[in-house]
Amino acid sequence: MIMKSLLGAFILLLITFPLPVSASHSIHTPVDILIDVGHGGVDGGTSYGDVVEKDITLEIATILYKQLAKKGYTAAINRTGDYGLSEENGWLKTDSRHRKDLAQRKHLAKELAPKIMVSLHVNFSPRSSDRGALVLYQKNNQSFMLADMVQHSLNNLYKTSELPRKRRSYTY
Ligand SMILES: [Zn+2]
Repeated sequence: MIMKSLLGAFILLLITFPLPVSASHSIHTPVDILIDVGHGGVDGGTSYGDVVEKDITLEIATILYKQLAKKGYTAAINRTGDYGLSEENGWLKTDSRHRKDLAQRKHLAKELAPKIMVSLHVNFSPRSSDRGALVLYQKNNQSFMLADMVQHSLNNLYKTSELPRKRRSYTY
């Protein structure tokens, strides 16, 4: 219940920010923004009691997706329920679930070729300074600007002070 009201505030904060997307729309790619939803299925991510990272990232991603779509952006989300992306990867011959998961995320990003891509995660640590939602961005200015905006909204909401981080594990 508390989570719901917090997420409601997150929506309002997001609406008040102008989105940092250039006016010129490329005809080559129909996807403006890809939202990479951290974890899923057997991979819960971090947790505290009943609160599991994979559920929070999905909730934030769903709200972000709806807000972007409402503003007329073509957004895509790479996970819409509680499953691992590794389960969708039947093409990579490896026993490593983690490698299958990463490869599937990279594959989708390549296929969709979005202008902007942000990844959603949540940290939990006994040290309060290391807790909270964390937005990762692909190495381009527009991805950074969206990540920064979403991170700022989440920081305000949860009284955290994370900075968005550059995603290094794969690029598109
Ligand atoms: Zn994570």
